[in-house]
Amino acid sequence: MTNLLSREEWTKRSSQKVSRTKLFIDGKFVDAASGKTFESINPRDNTVAANVAEGDSVDIDRAVAAARKSFTSGVWSEMAPVDRKNIMLRWAQLLRDNVNELALLETMDVGKPIGDSVNVDMASAASNLQWFAETIDKMYGQIAPVPRDALALIEREPLGVVGAVVPWNYPLIISSWKVGAALAAGNSVVLKPAEQSPLSALFFAELGVQAGLPEGVFNVVPGYGPTAGAALGLHMDVDKLAFTGSTEVGRYFLKYAAESNGKSVSLELGGKTPQIVLSDCSDLDAAASAIAWGVFYNSGQTCHAGTRLVVEKSVEDELLEKITKVGETIQPGDPYDPKTAMGTIVDKTQFDRVLNYIDIGKQEGAKVFSGGNRVEPVKGGVFIPPTVFRDVKPGMRIEREEIFGPVLVSVAVQSADEAVHVANDTQYGLASSIWTRDITKAHRIARKLRTGTVWVNTFDKGSITTPFGGFKQSGTGRDRSMYSIEGYTNLKTTWIQL
Ligand code: NAD
Repeated sequence: MTNLLSREEWTKRSSQKVSRTKLFIDGKFVDAASGKTFESINPRDNTVAANVAEGDSVDIDRAVAAARKSFTSGVWSEMAPVDRKNIMLRWAQLLRDNVNELALLETMDVGKPIGDSVNVDMASAASNLQWFAETIDKMYGQIAPVPRDALALIEREPLGVVGAVVPWNYPLIISSWKVGAALAAGNSVVLKPAEQSPLSALFFAELGVQAGLPEGVFNVVPGYGPTAGAALGLHMDVDKLAFTGSTEVGRYFLKYAAESNGKSVSLELGGKTPQIVLSDCSDLDAAASAIAWGVFYNSGQTCHAGTRLVVEKSVEDELLEKITKVGETIQPGDPYDPKTAMGTIVDKTQFDRVLNYIDIGKQEGAKVFSGGNRVEPVKGGVFIPPTVFRDVKPGMRIEREEIFGPVLVSVAVQSADEAVHVANDTQYGLASSIWTRDITKAHRIARKLRTGTVWVNTFDKGSITTPFGGFKQSGTGRDRSMYSIEGYTNLKTTWIQL
């Protein structure tokens, strides 16, 4: 854990002008061809954090051309693995050396508590990069079992140019998953960060070049989805799209691929994660703590946030009381205060959306058990406290749709079978959890749950070593682990007649 600066110091530093606000193409910061900029708003107090160059299709063309040139030249894709590894290791170290500056940019962009930006987001981004770096000189090809008069080599080769489009909830962590894996496999990359969170990515790219990444290998083009994002999606010279974001926009990426060059697409999309608590759960206090943190962390703006409590009726009252008590310790506060556990919602649009869902829940007949109203620990900021609904019935919109805010809905059930049915009755399949003391029952239920991750008697445990991604409409493909690197490679067979 890095020691944190004081609230006053973060506030003072945040008033200094942000220095990296242009597009990063071919190793240099450049203006958008149109000369346009857009405002990056700090949700803490609704002020302008920076004016950022607004890339569009012309800039995407420039970035893809730079990436293609670097790929074809072999300056990265054909560099000795140990040298590529060392550059990426230096890059990870530069993230650590610049942790305060990077973390502050993340917090200014999205309003997450500075303690989380330093100790979770930046720490993970650096260790993710390090992990991918270390795989580079440890990946082997194979020899196929063919007749003895031939030798058949099976090798993994990079795809070429990867277009990565990411959301704002964990900007640098999600970028490090995609960029780390794609570069480890030898590709060149164009990253389009979300319009709400362009700042950390630009500094990240500059640090890559400082670490020794050849120019053009990693490019960052901030801009809007329907312009810059679509241009990357539709580009004829991009070989793969790696997208994280909403299920709705994920579908566009499949369309972009179909309407252009049939490029491969991996999608990490939305979720409505069920947390099943059975009446034989041995530790309701532990469950309450994990459930509360699992839904309220990052103001609920987590794709796999455990937003649906599916609980056996006999323990619902006691559990909701306990969750609410934990929720009282995760109240919104100034993101620059190192003691703050919950920051803002990312922006006014998302804030209005979450409040609208809270109204919808009330209209649908669910009861607000705790929270539910705007609070304002910093004037002008967009803060919503932990909110719990009970008397929620399957099929209500607040039970079906991804709210992406600190809102837990509680659905009471009568049996484990009913719990499994309710848990699976969703378009999403990102993650789920089960709380029971009966490990056999836990295994049986885990096998029935149609989700990419199942947690048993815990929540939100993960590692760069475990694959992460969705079943059903939560996506295709995986981030993290060696499986994610495979997604950035093509298999080549070389058959040699002996
Ligand atoms: P979003 O889909 O609105 O935006 C994500 C990215 O797509 C942004 O960079 C945006 O500019 C771009 N985009 C938007 N419209 C586009 C278009 N028409 N064409 C091309 N690009 C476009 O999502 P968001 O609001 O930024 O993030 C929240 C969503 O992300 C939630 O649904 C959440 O569940 C999901 N998410 C999923 C994971 C996961 O790993 N499964 C992780 C984090 C977030």
